[in-house]
Amino acid sequence: MTLRTTCPATPRAWTVELHPHASGLVLVCRHCPHGSTRITTAAARSAALAHLARHARGDLRPLHLRICQCHERGCVWHPRHRGCAGPIRLLLAREHGGRRWRLADACSACAAATAQAAVVPDTVLTRAPLQPETRRRHRRRPKGPGEQIRVREILSYLAAALPAGTSPAARLLALQCALRVNAEMHVRLPKGVLRSLRLDATPGLWHELDHARWLRPLPESTANKIVVALLDATLLGQAPARPDRMHAADWALRASAAGAIGPAPRLAYLYLAAHTDSEAGNGLCELGQMARACGISPAALSGTLGQLASTGLLKSWQVCPDSEDLHWILHLLS
Ligand SMILES: [Zn+2]
Ligand SMILES: [Zn+2]
Ligand SMILES: [Zn+2]
Repeated sequence: MTLRTTCPATPRAWTVELHPHASGLVLVCRHCPHGSTRITTAAARSAALAHLARHARGDLRPLHLRICQCHERGCVWHPRHRGCAGPIRLLLAREHGGRRWRLADACSACAAATAQAAVVPDTVLTRAPLQPETRRRHRRRPKGPGEQIRVREILSYLAAALPAGTSPAARLLALQCALRVNAEMHVRLPKGVLRSLRLDATPGLWHELDHARWLRPLPESTANKIVVALLDATLLGQAPARPDRMHAADWALRASAAGAIGPAPRLAYLYLAAHTDSEAGNGLCELGQMARACGISPAALSGTLGQLASTGLLKSWQVCPDSEDLHWILHLLS
């Protein structure tokens, strides 16, 4: 019989850094013994996320064994708050303008207080990537979270993956691309979708996402269709069966086309709709998280919510001064 002593659990917190190098960048992981990999600037962000995802997948453990890694380090990752609270989530944080990325377990309170960070849904990150063959062998099986949850997950992912300055219009477009991506990580977006989003006359959106190194335009684009490749294969390649995501894309399209208002209030409406209890019509979120996901400063968000309220789509809203929690009642489109 072999006696085993309990090993101290390794912390579920991983950090990678991107350092400049003569021919591009070097990805340095603090947790990997043979530390660094050379990469191109264009591939840097997706390589960093892929690397972090591998660590998280290699260390799956039940929720009750996961603790707030932020608290373990004295909560140095965010400004002061009232202490740890809420369930443990996997938090992706972007630091130093995208030159450092961290993936760590954090409680909901710490997650909400951390700038440039977003909760990565466990369902997205911990599911092993499907092999193309497996994908072909199975028939379409509509399963997985509903449209609303799928949209919520992608909004959360985009909040961390896109630079903070990314415009609300580009975010609306990125959300559609993330939901419509195929197994090859390509998106063929009919111009009609851009018209439905009322973004067909907004210049520079593709360039903005290209510049953020989130996508790359492909030469197959035609007069009626834009074709691009998405670069975050790790996080997006594992989404559930594609028909499910297409339903979510349509749901998001309807929600983001609501009201005769600009991209910022429409993205705000979509965010609220994705976080609203569909039976009661009300919801609750942390104001800072919503501001990040919408690419709007927390100070400007009140104005955006006011605009939304003036259309009647937002029936009422209120920010709790102590907790910065936003409560609302939404007019849900059927
Ligand atoms: Zn590593
Ligand atoms: Zn903390
Ligand atoms: Zn905490």
